[in-house]
Amino acid sequence: MYKIDSRFLLIFLFLLIFCIREHLIAQNNFWNNKKCAVVLTYDDALNTHLDNVIPLLDSLGFKATFYISGFFPGFKDRLNDWKKAAKNGHELGNHTLFHPCIGNLQGREWVKSDYDLSKYSLQRITDEILMNNVLLEAVDGQKVRTFAYPCGDMIAGDSSYVNIVKQNFPAARGVKSTNEKIDKVDLYNIGCYVVNGQNSIDLIELVKDAIRNSTLLVFLFHGVGGEHSINVSLQSHRELLKFLKENEKDIWVATLKDITKFIKEYQTSKR
Ligand SMILES: [Zn+2]
Repeated sequence: MYKIDSRFLLIFLFLLIFCIREHLIAQNNFWNNKKCAVVLTYDDALNTHLDNVIPLLDSLGFKATFYISGFFPGFKDRLNDWKKAAKNGHELGNHTLFHPCIGNLQGREWVKSDYDLSKYSLQRITDEILMNNVLLEAVDGQKVRTFAYPCGDMIAGDSSYVNIVKQNFPAARGVKSTNEKIDKVDLYNIGCYVVNGQNSIDLIELVKDAIRNSTLLVFLFHGVGGEHSINVSLQSHRELLKFLKENEKDIWVATLKDITKFIKEYQTSKR
């Protein structure tokens, strides 16, 4: 009868276990060799971003994306501070020049008639977006940045402006509440989680979910410690970032520009 040398059997088993382990690790580490990706995005160029958020991010070595409407006071009054933030590696994302939103929806009484997106032409929204790019490039010197639809609205007048966004940006954040796996991310309507008053336990639970499910998690902040009706406390924000830092080996924290570049390369290679 044919006899198997036990030494060969051991080596074979060892190699098999090694290959299975490597395969499992590769399967669960889609995100730049980490288990999930987290993007911290901050909208509307607020003073609290410059005063409360950026110093904390810089102390932890995290880079984030700030969606800027060039006409907002927190931007035009503090150009040098935004320049410094960009120099430190933060992304200044495009959020249009005047932040137009559809005014004839419930709860949108605050939208001024002059900046009501339902009255815009495609040319007008295109001009606003491109002019904001010129302004941001003058501040950060960058030619590539991501976009965030103000209020998540994608219709100007009666036409979608998504194609304009596709022609001018590598990716865009919407406001639908989804966390996708890397192959399912829609690069021109990236989902996010709007933060408004949650405590850090809830925010950290979302990150744990992203780790478990290998997904992209995008946080959307407005006020951090005040300045906006949509707000998070300084403490909740700080505790969330502390958790991200403590679990850095599993979590890739980067700008939306960097993470979407990675997603695009992944999705293209799988096609
Ligand atoms: Zn906004």
